[in-house]
Amino acid sequence: MSRIVMKFGGTSMADLDRIRNVANRVKREVDAGNEVAVVVSAMAGTTNQLVKWCQDLSPLHDPREYDVVVATGEQVTIGLLAIALQTIGVPARSWQGWQVPVRTDHAHGKARVTEVEGETLIARMQAGEVPVVAGFQGVAPDGRVSTLGRGGSDLSAVVLAAAIKADRCDIYTDVDGIYTTDPRIVPRARKLDRISYEEMLELASVGAKVLQTRSVEMAMKARVRVQVLSSFEDKPGSLVVDEDEIMEKPIVSGIAYSRDEAKVTLRRVPDRPGIAATVFGLLAAANVNVDMIVQNLGADGSTDMTFTVGRADLARAQDALDKARPEVGFEAILADPDVAKISVVGIGMRSHAGVATTMFRTLAEKGINIQVISTSEIKVSVLVAADYTELAVRALHTAYGLDGPAA
Ligand code: ASP
Ligand code: MG
Repeated sequence: MSRIVMKFGGTSMADLDRIRNVANRVKREVDAGNEVAVVVSAMAGTTNQLVKWCQDLSPLHDPREYDVVVATGEQVTIGLLAIALQTIGVPARSWQGWQVPVRTDHAHGKARVTEVEGETLIARMQAGEVPVVAGFQGVAPDGRVSTLGRGGSDLSAVVLAAAIKADRCDIYTDVDGIYTTDPRIVPRARKLDRISYEEMLELASVGAKVLQTRSVEMAMKARVRVQVLSSFEDKPGSLVVDEDEIMEKPIVSGIAYSRDEAKVTLRRVPDRPGIAATVFGLLAAANVNVDMIVQNLGADGSTDMTFTVGRADLARAQDALDKARPEVGFEAILADPDVAKISVVGIGMRSHAGVATTMFRTLAEKGINIQVISTSEIKVSVLVAADYTELAVRALHTAYGLDGPAA
């Protein structure tokens, strides 16, 4: 017997037939003798609609009321799934965030989970009932409903798994696992049986969209074993686990890309102490996250400074910098949204030299110019012109020996 959390995303809950399919999957695990708790998302598209209604009424809406509105999507699906389970003879009950309770801080709209009480749910499971818990929502210290930020039901599943000491947290979704890269770009991408928390965290943060980044962070911290698998096919998925559980560590496990960033260059910035602090302080104050940064060494007392920001933040970044031009004293701002960040990730990089060189050489052979480079212990990222995204990903996938048999 195992204790498992099963989480189903919006596409898995999109209509009544799919909810029946989910109920049957849950029943199968229960019939196999497991204790099961379920976490669900709203039906696909619902949360987008709810968010849009709030924004259309007022872009500066009260975040507490936003939470009241957007949390409703999951209230619908927990009730429906509980009914579907009861209909096929599985005792089940729905749980809203405040009922568990899933306690959060007061940051409405993007709250952090502070505590989840597991005892009541464990007792229910031991008595043979399946708790169906609303993902994405919790209760703030003021007693009002809170939500965890978009995509937050993955996080809900992981924190619940930790609270009820589950053996595994199964994330059911519309893909059947974690791949070496996006199979839509590289048909010979391979499904990974296992991947370490750290690699998954890097891949999620640089564009692999299978798991929400915060949920991977939490799984790594709480040592929750996560499995990603399809709710539409019966195939083993991919396990996200501690790297000690991975026997043979590949040097590169995956290649990710993101077109969500834009490049900004400040031409001829005075090259003196405090300039970086001023520029990036300004951007932080404007709530703009900066990712990659390069700065040249200026020969004539001035330098070019290039960095990337979220594409959605580009206008705000330009505006903030423009206003500060007299203070900072640069010559011009150049903005380029047509860029892509390509990243190679692997824990084997820690012990193998030459991973970055292979990347640079491979891109050079394809005539792809590298605009910015950044690295971490287990990742190398480069910024290239967006037109080259597919070519770069394919060439790198082959260069690191990741191609599987022809599809
Ligand atoms: N329904 C929420 C959203 O769309 C939470 C989730 O699906 O993870 O962001
Ligand atoms: Mg999701």
